[in-house]
Amino acid sequence: MKKYMKTTLGRKLAAFYFVLFAVSFYFIVTFGRDYIYDKVISESKQNLRSACSTLLDSHISQQSYTKDSIRVLRTQMKMASETSNCRILIICDDGDIVVDTGDENPTYNVYHGNASFLRSECTMDYTMDNYLKEPSLCISLQMERNAYLNGYLVFAQSNSFIQSRADYYFNILLSLFYLMAGILALAFIGIYVFNFRPLHKLRNGAKDFSITHENPPIIIHSNDEYGELAQTLNIIGAELSKFDEYQRKFISNISHDFRSPLTSIRGYIQAMADGIIPPEEQEKYLNIILFETDRLTKLTTELLDVNKYSRENIFLEITKFDIHEAIHSTTESLKGTAGEKNISFEFSFDYTVPLPVQGDADKIQQVLHNLIDNAIKFSNNNSCIHISTWTRGDKVFTSIKDTGIGIPKEEQGNIWERFYKTDLSRGKDRLGTGLGLSISKEIIDAHRQTIDVVSTVGVGSEFIFTLPRA
Ligand code: ADP
Repeated sequence: MKKYMKTTLGRKLAAFYFVLFAVSFYFIVTFGRDYIYDKVISESKQNLRSACSTLLDSHISQQSYTKDSIRVLRTQMKMASETSNCRILIICDDGDIVVDTGDENPTYNVYHGNASFLRSECTMDYTMDNYLKEPSLCISLQMERNAYLNGYLVFAQSNSFIQSRADYYFNILLSLFYLMAGILALAFIGIYVFNFRPLHKLRNGAKDFSITHENPPIIIHSNDEYGELAQTLNIIGAELSKFDEYQRKFISNISHDFRSPLTSIRGYIQAMADGIIPPEEQEKYLNIILFETDRLTKLTTELLDVNKYSRENIFLEITKFDIHEAIHSTTESLKGTAGEKNISFEFSFDYTVPLPVQGDADKIQQVLHNLIDNAIKFSNNNSCIHISTWTRGDKVFTSIKDTGIGIPKEEQGNIWERFYKTDLSRGKDRLGTGLGLSISKEIIDAHRQTIDVVSTVGVGSEFIFTLPRA
């Protein structure tokens, strides 16, 4: 199998740097070089033209030279040619070169060759039919016409000189480019070094977590974005670990709670089928089977509720309703169950007087049902359940108080968790699933209200929840 090279931040940065370097280098040696050469040529033209006209104005135009007398200017012209780095010639109208800073005794006549350059002010790459020996940039200005001498003043600057100047500027540009490239390389190395360590830690931490699902925290001692990211990842990791653990527990609880009634149902049906249970005892065992199926039905309904409510938002149909009426109808529906244990209800309010609250009437009824049902389950026979309401500010408090087995202090925080049952209650309630209180809490939380318990073992429990007054 083909093995691909891993792309890392370092490799990406290096590749980006080299591409940047190569592209910039290419532009500098092509367009940059041409640009400099053009600039140098146009600068040379300008300089030669202005030197040429200065010489004309200051030394030639004002004087009346003859073909012979003008030769005395050669010394001044020689100095001018040295400062302008060019060769200066005076060419008479008849084509004779009378003064040439590059040749003491010129004998050449330009009309022996192509003399058209005299008429154009600037000619490039011209050798004057090899008179100049090397191609040059020629600037020629016509001398002012006077009675004695007509002709042209020519400044010729060799191409090699122009090229050497262009090369000089180009080398400066190239040196600056190398300097910038060096600085950029250092900056890239800096970026790499400062990012590599924290990124490496983050990557390894995330990788370990994805493999082991364990959450040793990623430690980055800095307050920058990497530090923040590490903290966020640690929090997410911790939450995921908790969720993982919770899911495992949840599934094992469900499996256990489904398996035990199913095992007993299967056992009794098998025994009946095998004729082990005599017909006269069958009713007793059928009742047990009925009880176990009730338990399974309750468990399934509550699981569906849990699943529905644990999603982000419980959809509430908020209306105005009478909490007294809700309590009354719940106790009426549970009267039969309470009656079996000879448990009575005592109300600390007049339920003919309405107390309007805001909430989802059906879901609050479910909370009341869970709390009163628990109170009945965990109360002793022949006792009384006390239900009261009162208002404080804009809140309505509802309390369900029993004189039952109570909940140990250390377990009071856990009863809101799914499937939690206190050790004390296990014997008393075989039908319970441990889901009722967690559903009730989710409903009250969705209303943005509170639910609490006050309980003492052997004395009883009081559950209190609030609702907004309508
Ligand atoms: P269940 O359906 O088993 O009653 P709940 O979530 O309603 O589940 O209750 C969880 C556990 O809290 C119960 O199993 C019991 O141990 C404890 N509990 C709830 N209400 C009371 C109460 N009134 N008195 C004593 N213990 C209670």
